[in-house]
Amino acid sequence: MTVIEQLLDLQAQDAVIRDLERQVHDIPKRRKLEQDRLDEIQRELRHATESVETYEKRAVQTELDISELQALSDKYERQRQSVQSQQEFAALGRQSEAARRARVEKEEFLEKARAAIDTAKENVKIVEARWQEESASVESYLASLRTRLVEVQHKLVELQAARDETARKYASPENARFFSYYERLCKKTFPVLVRLGADNACPGCHMVLPPSKVQDAQRNAKLAATPTKMNVVACDYCGRLVFK
Ligand SMILES: [Zn+2]
Repeated sequence: MTVIEQLLDLQAQDAVIRDLERQVHDIPKRRKLEQDRLDEIQRELRHATESVETYEKRAVQTELDISELQALSDKYERQRQSVQSQQEFAALGRQSEAARRARVEKEEFLEKARAAIDTAKENVKIVEARWQEESASVESYLASLRTRLVEVQHKLVELQAARDETARKYASPENARFFSYYERLCKKTFPVLVRLGADNACPGCHMVLPPSKVQDAQRNAKLAATPTKMNVVACDYCGRLVFK
């Protein structure tokens, strides 16, 4: 195996490890998204319940207003029976009529409030049903995420051990400079090792490399069997190791 093939092998293992690490990193985010979704439905449910309460309070208040207005017009009607003057009789009649009209308005409002209570209660039921359904599905999803997290973490330990073993196996004294370069760069840039395309552009940063650099890469390919004669050929712009 040439040093390039060895580096590619190590890099392939690192790619799998990085993918799993990303999954481990993403799981809490996914969990948070699900939790936020449930919280949102919970807020909606609270809001719907509050609507019912608001309309119920209004209905109770309106019922009180109605009986007060009824009592008021009854009182005016009673007073009317005992007044002497025609003027007073007429004035009480107007007051009684005003109270009656106000009561009719309140009764109409009460009817609307009751309809609104029914609608709001219906809405509570709908949101409750959604909550039930969603919370069950989120629960099972979160459980699967927990399982997945444990699996991935175990897998990572295994892969990391295998990867370290590979790196030890390949890092012979003559290859050491390539591997130490790789190890250093892979902490911030990945993939580290890239094959130059026909356009001689670095696939990592897309900059076209100068002909001398391309020649170095071609020379390395010819010297692949004798790593001591090879040079570390890296992209001038992003530092990736390049090969032809
Ligand atoms: Zn580059």
